[in-house]
Amino acid sequence: MYQSSLISKTRKQISQSEESLNAQILIKAGFVDQVMAGVYAYLPLGYRVIQNIEKIVREELAAISAQEILLPALQPKSYWEKTGRWDNLDVLYRFTSYYTNTELALGSTHEEIITPLAQNLIQSYQDLPLAAYQIQTKFRDEKRAKSGLLRGREFIMKDLYSFHSNSEDLDAYYDIVIQAYINIYKRLGLGDKTLKTYASGGSFSKYSHEFQTLSDIGEDTIFVCEKCNIAINQEIIDEQNTCPECGNSDLIEKKAIEVGNIFKLQTKYSDAFGLEFTDDKGQNKPVIMGCYGIGISRLMGTIVEIFAENNAKMLWPAEISPFDTHIIVLNTDSAEVKNKAEELYQQYQKNGKSVLFDSRDERPGVKFADADLIGIPERIIISKKSLEQNGVEINGVIIPFEKIYKF
Ligand code: ATP
Ligand code: MG
Repeated sequence: MYQSSLISKTRKQISQSEESLNAQILIKAGFVDQVMAGVYAYLPLGYRVIQNIEKIVREELAAISAQEILLPALQPKSYWEKTGRWDNLDVLYRFTSYYTNTELALGSTHEEIITPLAQNLIQSYQDLPLAAYQIQTKFRDEKRAKSGLLRGREFIMKDLYSFHSNSEDLDAYYDIVIQAYINIYKRLGLGDKTLKTYASGGSFSKYSHEFQTLSDIGEDTIFVCEKCNIAINQEIIDEQNTCPECGNSDLIEKKAIEVGNIFKLQTKYSDAFGLEFTDDKGQNKPVIMGCYGIGISRLMGTIVEIFAENNAKMLWPAEISPFDTHIIVLNTDSAEVKNKAEELYQQYQKNGKSVLFDSRDERPGVKFADADLIGIPERIIISKKSLEQNGVEINGVIIPFEKIYKF
């Protein structure tokens, strides 16, 4: 894509109210824009990153036989009353239809929708196990929207739900999801900093697990076992003050961002909706459930927090960068440079690379500042100087064209 045709521009100044590094960088670089507190619009560069994150999530979930669906954001009150959450979930947006006077909720999570839906999908043990997920916009009336994309009132989440005939089957799938999550965070460039974390299991199981990315901006406090590379959330440290995996009591307190959360729901929701299946002896039993979330938009913010430098530079991990390559043309007044650059741009695209092509008539300083902010990891500079040596410049070194064209 020609950078000159990009509908977003980089910005020098942004609203004073944006305090967090991730929102500052993303707004300055033209990836997102703020519509109101906790609500963001995704511009082409930002939406490409979101789509790249989603692609990784989709691939890893396909590998564990989860099927993608899309559930409604608009939801009837009756389902939320069945679980008692209409009156008890503080973040649930509730409103009344102007025409029909019916009361509705905007989905903040989807157990209340998927469980009754599963009644139509599951009759006997032969229909189990079953795993379905969606990537969708969630709405939460958060008391305080803060930290840019980290805590929004409207945000993108991946939510997976699994259904089983017995708890051993749930336990086995739960461990498979943990491994898929580890793969996902690794591919996102967060592998070293993201820890499986033991957290409160609520009323239905001993623990839940979170995936926490170490960062000082994080709202969560976790206690890390450096031997096992896992952590315990502060919320359970009174009951669990040694590593649940090795018993080590030398745990290190750190701040972290919760980027995923998985739960064994057991029969909490199947009981509420009467979701049952017939077992191989013809008996009716409640379906056992698990649920597994990943904060897609929170991840984009987290990645900026981790990879940004000095408020002015970003370096996207290769797999989620908005483009594979940034080609920057200097000396655009030279027809020779311009033509060669254009040829290079076409060549890269032919080889299947996505390219942001900066052929604008701007000063080098402006171009480099923009490129630093946009943060595409592979940067190729073509200029009079590089052409004199019949090549391009990559990381300060001249690389001859023959090498560049041979991928
Ligand atoms: P938190 O503890 O941060 O409030 P949660 O435990 O309520 O989150 P879940 O319902 O488990 O969150 O949602 C799954 C994932 O969605 C979380 O792990 C997080 O990454 C992301 N998420 C939750 N709330 C928000 C939000 N307000 N803005 C952006 N992402 C969010
Ligand atoms: Mg949580």
